[in-house]
Amino acid sequence: MNAYDAIVIGGGSVGLPTAVFLAQEKLKVLVIDKHPSCGQGQNKAAIGGVRATHSDPAKIKLCLESLDIYSNWADTFGDDIGWKMGGYCFPVFREAEESMLKGILPIQKEFGLNIDWVDADTIREVIPGINENGLIGGTYSPEDGQVCSLQVTYAMVRIGKSLGCDFKFNEKVTSITHDKGKVCGVQTDKGHYAAPIVVNAAGAFARQLGEALGLDIPVNPDSHEAGISAPVKDFLAPLVVDLRPGPDGRSSNFYFGQNHEGAFIFCYTPSTLFAGTDRRCTSEFAPSIAQRLIDLIPRLKNLLVRRLWRGLYPMTPDGSPIVSAVREFPGLYLAVGMCGQGFMLGPGVGRNLASLIVHGKPIIDADILAQLSFYRDFHAAAEEALK
Ligand SMILES: Cc1cc2nc3c(=O)[nH]c(=O)nc-3n(C[C@H](O)[C@H](O)[C@H](O)COP(=O)(O)OP(=O)(O)OC[C@H]3O[C@@H](n4cnc5c(N)ncnc54)[C@H](O)[C@@H]3O)c2cc1C
Repeated sequence: MNAYDAIVIGGGSVGLPTAVFLAQEKLKVLVIDKHPSCGQGQNKAAIGGVRATHSDPAKIKLCLESLDIYSNWADTFGDDIGWKMGGYCFPVFREAEESMLKGILPIQKEFGLNIDWVDADTIREVIPGINENGLIGGTYSPEDGQVCSLQVTYAMVRIGKSLGCDFKFNEKVTSITHDKGKVCGVQTDKGHYAAPIVVNAAGAFARQLGEALGLDIPVNPDSHEAGISAPVKDFLAPLVVDLRPGPDGRSSNFYFGQNHEGAFIFCYTPSTLFAGTDRRCTSEFAPSIAQRLIDLIPRLKNLLVRRLWRGLYPMTPDGSPIVSAVREFPGLYLAVGMCGQGFMLGPGVGRNLASLIVHGKPIIDADILAQLSFYRDFHAAAEEALK
């Protein structure tokens, strides 16, 4: 009863789609999560932005796959997951951001992203009511979008169950077991489960699972705040990213959008990162982000903020994820270190990892996925520009 073809550790942004795609390949899959239900790790902290707008080719390709999966979800599986194809817009006010964004356009286009530099008039149309003071132009990628991170996890569990996946919640994996190096299952605080394939998709806590095996998985979490408003009349299609540092020195950039229900959902990158897993404080960010939102779009001044929260970015040194087989332990795979983009990467990572496991090759070019190897030099690799 406790034997499976594959075990996925973590029922979050990456683990759930990985399980669904493995089950679609007819594997008998078990998903284990320490929380009482799915998506209760960092998945539910995500504001739901899904963009292929990156500088790293592997991330561009995987997120294009995710966009394909999310945008077709309702037609394929029938669930409303809050998909909104409003695009992503990076308005630009300074030469520094202009040259950085223009500098990565060739690679974004080469790898298939529909994106362009647009003038200030177009930005005004795309972001109605934007403060035009100093506005130069910006980039716009109309096929990026948003999804509700809560709705999609429940949809994935439903599909997973219909494909024969088992789910164990409230159960913590304490170690990955092996027989002379060959993976043979996992030990939890409640029992042992056997499988020749184990996927570590434990997010911000992936590193701990490597330690007992002597693997140094370079994933270090830091914490980020976000908030959501009461719904207002729909007027903003894209998710907006302002790359300028905030005037009060607290944030390096900020991003926001209006979701499918009309609520504004927003977030920033703190200038000084909050390293570690402590998510208790949510008072640092509100006054600062409120000012930034109103400065950029003055008509947002009467928004009623409903809720603030903190969550973790599972960071790697170069800002790109690790999607990789582990050579020292045949049967063990890593799908970790998603940084601030695990929700948008999840379905693309899941589909490619399932193909790698079952067919020995990913769906995207194997050389491109290899850039996310566990064995790359994390300090020599080019850093993701839009992490
Ligand atoms: C404020 C904020 C906003 C964000 N916005 C976005 C966004 O718009 N778009 C985007 O793409 N990303 C966004 N992110 C990032 C995104 O949330 C993460 O990158 C993503 O959730 C990581 O996915 P994951 O599957 O690796 O981890 P998780 O979703 O956290 O899943 C890992 C799971 O593993 C479980 N687990 C861990 N250890 C064990 C164990 N030993 N035993 C059993 N279970 C275990 C956890 O309980 C958890 O459920 C945001 C993050 C924050 C904090």
